[in-house]
Amino acid sequence: MNLNDLMIDNKWTLFLDRDGVLNRRIVDGYVTQWKEFSWLPGVMEALKILSGIFGQIIVVSNQQGIGKGIMTEEELMVIHTSLQKEVRQQGGRIDAIYFSPHLEKEGSFMRKPNVGMGLKARKECPAIRFRQAVMAGDTLSDMIFGRRLGMKTVFLSENKSYLKKGHKLIDFSFPDLLTFAKSVRSPQSAVLSPQSSENSPLPPPPLSSSPSPPSLSPPPPPPSPPSLSIS
Ligand SMILES: [Mg+2]
Repeated sequence: MNLNDLMIDNKWTLFLDRDGVLNRRIVDGYVTQWKEFSWLPGVMEALKILSGIFGQIIVVSNQQGIGKGIMTEEELMVIHTSLQKEVRQQGGRIDAIYFSPHLEKEGSFMRKPNVGMGLKARKECPAIRFRQAVMAGDTLSDMIFGRRLGMKTVFLSENKSYLKKGHKLIDFSFPDLLTFAKSVRSPQSAVLSPQSSENSPLPPPPLSSSPSPPSLSPPPPPPSPPSLSIS
């Protein structure tokens, strides 16, 4: 499967894991305060690009530090408010953040890899279609969550060992969020990219004048279905 074949546009939703995708994971610990939240390189640029493509961007995050009593829900909300504000200031967007405070051993429906957070998001945002959704995360639990809901899955990690196994849970893999963002082409941007020679052979070059770069010629107008009116 090719990522560009998905024709991702603003009808699509991007679900993102938080720790290890947006910010550095704290090994054997939890981000309990905003000052401990450390953005991974390129994430702001990535979110800016992705915000221009996906209709909804939603974070789904397991936070069992709450269940363990290490932090409160109120403290987590402060972190998430700051997170969303900073992304907005940098020109990106995170539309909603869902978290699961439950302990792993509880086996909660609301904790990934179970699908409760995804269903809750769709209930609150009916525009979400799981068939037109991507789950991006850095663990197989994230991939199972996405798979169970019928999403495309994107594994973000430098660790290639999962891919060597050809893991059935992973549709696409990138080392980080920015590389993924730069690889997504919406149909709109595809119109502006140089034409593929497969289906539409290029016209013969002009005989006398020097050829002008293709980027200077106006792009063809996007096809508009006659039955739809744009409001
Ligand atoms: Mg993670």
